[in-house]
Amino acid sequence: MSKTQKLIAMEDRFGAHNYHPLDIVIKKAEGVWVEDVEGNRFMDFLAAYSAVNQGHCHPRLLKVMKRQAAKVCLTSRAFRNDQLPYFCQEICELTGFAKVLPMNSGAEAVETAIKAARKWGEKVKGIAKDQAEIIVCADNFHGRTTTIVGFSTEDQYKDGFGPFTPGFKVIPYGDLKALEKAITPSTAAFLVEPIQGESGIKVPPAGFLAQAHELCRKHNALLICDEIQSGLGRTGKLFAFEHEGIVPDAVIVGKALSGGFYPVSAFLSSEEVMGVFHPGDHGSTFGGNPLGMAVAREALRVLSDEKLVENSAKLGPWFMEKLGEIESKSIQLIRGKGLWVGMVLDRPARPYCEALMHEGMLCKETHETVIRLAPPLTITKKELNMALTRIKKVFKKLDG
Ligand SMILES: *Cc1c(COP(=O)(O)O)cnc(C)c1O
Repeated sequence: MSKTQKLIAMEDRFGAHNYHPLDIVIKKAEGVWVEDVEGNRFMDFLAAYSAVNQGHCHPRLLKVMKRQAAKVCLTSRAFRNDQLPYFCQEICELTGFAKVLPMNSGAEAVETAIKAARKWGEKVKGIAKDQAEIIVCADNFHGRTTTIVGFSTEDQYKDGFGPFTPGFKVIPYGDLKALEKAITPSTAAFLVEPIQGESGIKVPPAGFLAQAHELCRKHNALLICDEIQSGLGRTGKLFAFEHEGIVPDAVIVGKALSGGFYPVSAFLSSEEVMGVFHPGDHGSTFGGNPLGMAVAREALRVLSDEKLVENSAKLGPWFMEKLGEIESKSIQLIRGKGLWVGMVLDRPARPYCEALMHEGMLCKETHETVIRLAPPLTITKKELNMALTRIKKVFKKLDG
């Protein structure tokens, strides 16, 4: 039995089967590249769902992580630590939001946004107690807690996990008329991904977000953008909402916020919205811990210093154009923004992802028929060219 087979059997025997990963067992990684236990090398075109935008094991992050781990890792928020204040100041200055609330996983930051929106609805907007509504979109992905899967439209995410939290209304993604119709005096917020990642890199019609912003303003509801996957450079801007020339009332970040070293997420908003939280209202044992804060501060600095947002803006359109030149009868559509591309096929994408793996390139199908390409933003044109050669080869072979 190979080392790979042995480890897969062990995981299958003792671990819960809540994932269906490609059968590659990674042992180490650096930048765009990962290596499996057999010593094979692959280009990583998933980048841990955009959590490693800065590339795997970034040396600067490693250094800060080691240094901070040797000093102090966790104080809990019962006491203060010397990293949290700097993180708060730096992320607010970078993003332009007035206030930040750090959490750990993305789902926790989404929960924070939901709590903030509801409480703002009751205490500031004046919605009757327990009546606040939040509008969300079909095919959304905001995480896996029971509240969040409760407003998912993906049957599998919900099956068996009910009963669910009330107070959510679902509209079709990109449908302004439906949004306007769904808004009532009890609407606290519209929670939306500027581009839907898990749903297959779905880009809404141009102007959707800007007009949704306008509608929210008109009806005194908050526009909350979930930029956990789309944010921090993935689309060629720091935030995807910038493509629409707006600033939402709040934004949720995670994933690349720590460059993959440590789970750090955050909810960012105004003084008014964040002002609804008082001591004891909300919290997290690990949220805002010094280790996470030190790593996140460095992860944001790497993003700026290495001009990763600019690299995504520069190479993304070129890469998408090159993908568009691939002759294949199975490709229906290529869509995306920056270094975030969905290749929509007329057939299941999994065999293509498996074939790409055998060519030394890792990516993961999403929603059956979409190949998602999202390499670390540190990738070079030369490496993208290598990837294009591999992709072409696979399409030639499998289309046949
Ligand atoms: C990944 C993701 C989440 C959930 O983040 P976790 O860290 O897995 O909890 C939420 N929203 C979006 C848009 C995501 O891509």
